[in-house]
Amino acid sequence: MAFITNETLLQLAKEYGTPLYVYNANQISEQYQKLQDAFKDCNARFFYACKALSNINILKYVEQMGASLDCVSINEVKLGLRAGFTPDRILFTPNCVDFAEIDEGKQLGVNLNIDNISILEQFGTKYGGSYPICIRFNPHIMGGGNYKISTGHIDSKFGISIHQMRHIERIVKTLGINVAGIHMHTGSDIKDVNVFLQGLEVMFELATHFPNLKFIDLGSGFKVPYQEGDVQTDIQLLGKKVTEAFREYAKETGKEIQVWFEPGKFLVSESGYFIVKANVIKQTTATVFVGVNSGFNHLIRPMFYDAYHRIKNISNPNGSERIYTVVGNICETDTFAWDRTLNEVREGDFLVFYNAGAYGFEMSSNFNSRLKPAEVMVVDGEAHLIRKRDVFEDLLKNQVEVL
Ligand SMILES: *Cc1c(COP(=O)(O)O)cnc(C)c1O
Repeated sequence: MAFITNETLLQLAKEYGTPLYVYNANQISEQYQKLQDAFKDCNARFFYACKALSNINILKYVEQMGASLDCVSINEVKLGLRAGFTPDRILFTPNCVDFAEIDEGKQLGVNLNIDNISILEQFGTKYGGSYPICIRFNPHIMGGGNYKISTGHIDSKFGISIHQMRHIERIVKTLGINVAGIHMHTGSDIKDVNVFLQGLEVMFELATHFPNLKFIDLGSGFKVPYQEGDVQTDIQLLGKKVTEAFREYAKETGKEIQVWFEPGKFLVSESGYFIVKANVIKQTTATVFVGVNSGFNHLIRPMFYDAYHRIKNISNPNGSERIYTVVGNICETDTFAWDRTLNEVREGDFLVFYNAGAYGFEMSSNFNSRLKPAEVMVVDGEAHLIRKRDVFEDLLKNQVEVL
């Protein structure tokens, strides 16, 4: 395992300052290798869902690793092209965008995933069957770690309901649309392999409606362990089951169909470390707070998703253990962790949050007019600054001073 040591993280914190995101690129390729191994007997393609972490250097690394790219906005598509992905290695899966954005994706030549009947109709009217597309379905399966990240249930805005198949067929037939793929993505943090298999059953059923089908896209949502002893998606088992299911499908129908996946968190979560400094220790009547030089403006997952991130005091690793509540410096309730056992934290100590690669920096903001952190990427043990820390002028960059 190419894990980065706490000593290295401490050095990087001192060299680049904090708060600091550090990504160990080699861990990304190790995760990719796990997927490749699990699906080696299957015709599988993996599209990295770059909304998890989209620094251009990460995208270039993923490109060189050989994976493809899943994009949810036209700007992600453009970043992907800039990083060197050819259009056939990019899948554009937006939702609730206007037709112009879909059209731009088409002009750029990428794979399109359409998640709305109105868009399907407009696309078919304009292009007929001249450009193959993929349709995103909502399979009405409840999956995902919590409601905010569950996308395949009945109340979700994502995809076209499987119950609208009649309508889809009418449009596809009337306009001669070439449906090359069908897609589902039921959410994030799905522990249970059966959720994917259930979804696959639904997909196989839908597949019978599309004679030109080339691939079935099962989206993502692979759960990674955040806490010790956490359940994670059993990728080996998933690979085995999916391989069997496709083999069976090929035997029954005579059709060799590819399976696509769009892992985000699975590829980059563990590669990321977020380092902060303890500004103050505050004893109250209820607890001992560690107030750090960051907040949910830099790592929103604990406040937004009730996410758990392991934390360690890397500058006092042998200090006696005490119980703390770790909070940020934002003027709003801003708790990273309650009741955490940490080696004694002194003012000035450095704490690291593990598993901070996915939806960490990517969801950061300038709330409270605070500056966004720097990002460092370590490749084969060598550190590179890949994003400069914001400076004060960045806050004013797009403001127009009229008074
Ligand atoms: C967010 C997203 C993903 C990635 O989900 P993870 O849980 O990070 O793996 C994949 N596909 C689509 C369409 C998404 O919106």
